[in-house]
Amino acid sequence: MKKIAIFGSTGSIGESTLAIVRENPDKFRAVTLVAGKNIEKLISQIREFHPENVYITSEENAARLRALFPTLNVYCGEEGMEEISLRTDFDISVSALVGIAGLSPTYNMIKNGKTVALANKEVLVAGGELIMNTAKESGATLLTVDSEHSAIMQCLQGEEQNKIDKILLTASGGPFFDKEITDDITPADALNHPTWSMGPKVTIDSSTMMNKGFEVIEAKWLFGVEHTQIEVVVHRKSLVHSMVQFADGTIMANIGPKSMQIPIAYALNYPERLPNGIEKLDLFEVCDLKFEKPKIEKFPCLRLAYEAIAKGHSAQVVLNAANEVLVAAFLAGKVKYTDIPKGIEKVMALYAPRPLATVAEILAFDKEVKAKTEEMIRENEI
Ligand code: NDP
Repeated sequence: MKKIAIFGSTGSIGESTLAIVRENPDKFRAVTLVAGKNIEKLISQIREFHPENVYITSEENAARLRALFPTLNVYCGEEGMEEISLRTDFDISVSALVGIAGLSPTYNMIKNGKTVALANKEVLVAGGELIMNTAKESGATLLTVDSEHSAIMQCLQGEEQNKIDKILLTASGGPFFDKEITDDITPADALNHPTWSMGPKVTIDSSTMMNKGFEVIEAKWLFGVEHTQIEVVVHRKSLVHSMVQFADGTIMANIGPKSMQIPIAYALNYPERLPNGIEKLDLFEVCDLKFEKPKIEKFPCLRLAYEAIAKGHSAQVVLNAANEVLVAAFLAGKVKYTDIPKGIEKVMALYAPRPLATVAEILAFDKEVKAKTEEMIRENEI
């Protein structure tokens, strides 16, 4: 029986993880559930899964949980997040908070030598080198549940990493790949992803293709390749989850149904595959697999991600921080859709590269950039 800690249990990845736990009660037990604000969903998860430890952001919600479940360990606030992520009484953790909020808890679990199934890509965008070096030192195992990266991980089973010629990272292209991008795009338009159902932030990131830029950075760290060895390939059907081209020209592709439960279950039960009730692909119905070039000029966020990669680590922290603020501002109706890339570009231009060696330094810089981005939105400079 594997004990699982789920950071982000009330989110899209968290719920998919719990669906796997529900279907495999003999294999998995959810011992730790971490949520942000959604107290009602967390309460129903506690009633169903009987965890031992939970986290909720506010003290008020934590007090409510303590009254309802007197034997449960309830954590809250910044200190509580630190404490719950330093617990070691689990076998595998699913790191699925959204944004920079995931960096510190993921780092703590990696530092403790634990096995982490990483969904939160912003962790590697903002702290890739630190996370990978810490994992090497502590002996932690870092698995990935991002569907593209899980596909690559699966293509690399039994292969030598130094024989990778190229990683072919597939992208759905999002809702605007074949449509004009205009100022009047609404949050509802951008949240209408053609192939995946995900949380709001990653769905907007997919629509701007910032998500793919983040995934290039994520792949570079996870698989130890140069970013120049990663090629983004648009594949509108999202059935080829990614590919690896090897030194002899062979391309291995991972093809399968569009369900996040498959890569999550692969990580939870790694390296054994777990049968599931998900409908199998009918290749005769799929018919053709089309691949297209990514349209870098149409999606400036992808270009900005490449620029941040070229500039170095601190530029990637700026990219991530400015993006988080602008996506939230767009969803709140404070800026236009087209302001997202424009704003990120303006913010990126303000910061020269600087060394950031620790989680504390990364978080302090993230805070500074976010405050600046918010000020620029307030002052109508974005
Ligand atoms: P959601 O927005 O659906 O869920 C985010 C989860 O994190 C929620 O449980 C939320 O709690 C919790 N949370 C957010 N901030 C905090 C905080 N400060 N403290 C505690 N809990 C917090 O996101 P997704 O599940 O879609 O995505 C999670 C991560 O996985 C993202 O980084 C995304 O890029 C990545 N990812 C997602 C995929 C998907 O299919 N969804 C695919 C691949 C990667 P609450 O709701 O209670 O406030």
